[in-house]
This record gives sequence, structure tokens and C-alpha cells, in this order.
Amino acid sequence: MTEHWTEQMKNQVNTLEELTKYINVSDGEREAIETLKTKWGTSPYFASLMDKNDPNCPIRRQVIPSLEEQTNTYGMDNYLVWKENRATEEIRPDSIARQYHDRIAFTVVQVCGIYCRHCFRKELVVDQDLQLNFDVEEGLAWIAEHPEIRDVLITGGDPLLLSDEKLAYLIGRLREMPHIQMIRIGSRLPIVLPQRVTEGLKKAIGGYHRVPVWINTQCNHPKEITEKTAQAIYELMSCGINVGNQAVLLKGINDDVDTFRELHQKLLRTRIRPYYVFYCEPAPGIDHFRTPVEKGAELIRDGLRGHTTGLAQPMYVLATKIGKIPLMPDYYITDKNQKEYTVRNYKGETTTIPNVPE
Ligand code: SF4
Repeated sequence: MTEHWTEQMKNQVNTLEELTKYINVSDGEREAIETLKTKWGTSPYFASLMDKNDPNCPIRRQVIPSLEEQTNTYGMDNYLVWKENRATEEIRPDSIARQYHDRIAFTVVQVCGIYCRHCFRKELVVDQDLQLNFDVEEGLAWIAEHPEIRDVLITGGDPLLLSDEKLAYLIGRLREMPHIQMIRIGSRLPIVLPQRVTEGLKKAIGGYHRVPVWINTQCNHPKEITEKTAQAIYELMSCGINVGNQAVLLKGINDDVDTFRELHQKLLRTRIRPYYVFYCEPAPGIDHFRTPVEKGAELIRDGLRGHTTGLAQPMYVLATKIGKIPLMPDYYITDKNQKEYTVRNYKGETTTIPNVPE
């Protein structure tokens, strides 16, 4: 298998013929690939992590289209336009999505290292029913004219698929703006293409500067983490870039206590800080990945809180058009009176502490 990231991208596994080199394709997978008009595929490296014989392999389910994507009972049509407030009166370039006063998401590219079957931007990135114009210069000009923006999330698609030169230019332009205090990059490449972390990339986006760069990746199952992932994360950290994880809660993939705990413990062992677990958003055609909303809080309660270090505790949130809504478990204060609070721990034991009147 070729190691260089550009070769990996050129040789993406995105045809039935290629896929059969890695797994025994099931009848359902074959039919979905042959009938659905959808973009799919991933790097040869990530494809090599798939279970050859199990169609329920968590990596197979994230990579390979499913006939279930044709069902849309609960998803919202035009989800992305709703979610990213694209139908508001504020005039913004297509590349700028805004839910907060002081931070924006800046979409710079539409290609990915994996076309996740559960992607909330599916209409745009995977199914490509929604056409937007992502002009980087136009986006940079808009950010320069908005001094209230202090934090820019560079997103896509996958921004780390830009060349080192383009990334250096983009980061450099943002760092020159006096109102920009931090830059975040959302990228699945540390997981699906760790070969992307090269000396050139480190030079382009890392190093000491007034404006730090943070990367948030997406890893949903412990099987996605290898020795190569660990090396790539170490390299990013060695040039000043912290890496966090934004998992998506996915039915049949990570919605059981053991997998959920192992995922978060393994992330920490790999030096990735668990940051968010997102409720799988109601984009069209991904009903089959969605659990009840309460599920994430239950998993944190039953699998993480008290069961493993506090460093492994992500925030469970629902991402909406009005921002993220925290959905953390809430069972700790069981009673309160003038004199004391009664509090409960993860084992169900209770104790009391004195109340302080306001
Ligand atoms: S890498 Fe990100 S943008 Fe691309 S398909 Fe996956 S979740 Fe969507």
C-alpha cells in the first residue's frame, strides 16, 4: 500500500471493483452501490481497516452506501440550509455559516477523505443536491470586514486536503487579521488518512504564533485508531497543535456502553482529547443511524462518569440552527433544602453537603 497521502487520494477506494480487493461485498452493499446516486469512498488505508466478512463492521457501515439511505421518515428536507441559517437576511458568502456573534464556520473545500454515510452535510458533500459556491477569497474578505469575529472554524469537506501551500496561505491570511484570536480546523484526515500529517503540513499550519491552530477530528469507533493515528497525533502536537475529537453517536456503531467507553479511553491513549459527542443530526436519509436523543447522556452516565478519568469525558450536544444544546446527564443533585444538598454518584450512592443561602 502506498504511503504518500496524495497517492492514497488518487487511489481512493470508490468503485465496486476496488472494494472487492478489501472485503467480501454483501448483496445489500452491492445493490446500494449500483443503484444509489451518491458519492462514496475512502482512502486505501482506511479501507484496509474494514472487516472482510462482516457487513456490520463499524468502518464498513460508515464508508459503504446502504439502501436504507433511500428512507427519510424523520429527517428534515433542506436540512443544511436550516441548520446553517443560510436563509436569513444577513448577506454572507456561501462559504460562511454563522450561528454565533463572534465565530463562524468557513467552508473552503468540498472533497473528503471519506464520504461518511451519516454526514450532516450529506446534501452538499455526499449527495451533492445542494450547490454552493465556496470562494476562499470572498470568505477571507468577509472575515476581514467583520471585526467581531474572533474565532474561525475552517471546515469542508476536509480542509486538510488542500495543498500545504494553500493551507499556509489561508492560515497566514487569517493570522494577519488583528481580530482573529484562534483558528480551528475540522478534519477527519488524522483518522482516515494519517499519512497527511507530513513535515510540510506541520510547517504550513503549526509553529508558535499569537493565533493558535486547533484540530478537531472525528473518530466514532475504537477500530478507527491505529499506531499510524497515534504517530500522526504526536507529530501534530509536536508543532503546537492540539487535537480533539468530535464523535457522532451512531446506532449500531458506538451506542453501547462497552464500545463507547473503549472509544473514549483509546482516544486519550492516542493523545486525542474527547471534546464533543454529537447527537446524529436529522439530515435526510440517515434515520438508520439515529438513536433517541437521551441515549448519549445515558452512555456518558453508564460508561464514562466515574468509570474512567475526567479527561475522557466529552460534552454531549445537539447541534441546531441556534447553536449547540448541551444534553449532559443530570442526576447528581437529588434533593435540596435550606440546610443541605443531597448528591448522588455514578454508583447510585448518596451523600450530603451543606447549603449556603444566597
Ligand atoms: S469527512 Fe466530514 S464533511 Fe466529509 S463526509 Fe465525513 S462528516 Fe461529512
